Amino acid sequence: MPQLMADDPTYLSWMKANPGGFVLNSYNPARQGYLILHRATCHTITGTPANGRSWTKDYSKTCSVSREDLEDWTRHSFGDGPKRCGICDP
Ligand SMILES: [Zn+2]
Repeated sequence: MPQLMADDPTYLSWMKANPGGFVLNSYNPARQGYLILHRATCHTITGTPANGRSWTKDYSKTCSVSREDLEDWTRHSFGDGPKRCGICDP
């Protein structure tokens, strides 16, 4: 079951524990129109946030160890599957 990351410490510790996992990046709250699937190792969603503040405030992160589960959950929740990140190519 995909998990919505409540805050940065939760997100960063999940990423550390699940390097083979997948992340859905979206608006906060998540909604249709911007639903991007990444690998947990993608440099665009790890390290220091581009805005220098937070990974989980302006955008939401929903994580899963299973890409299939995360894609199904996205389709079920928003009526639309995620777009795949062109950088990490999940
Ligand atoms: Zn990516």
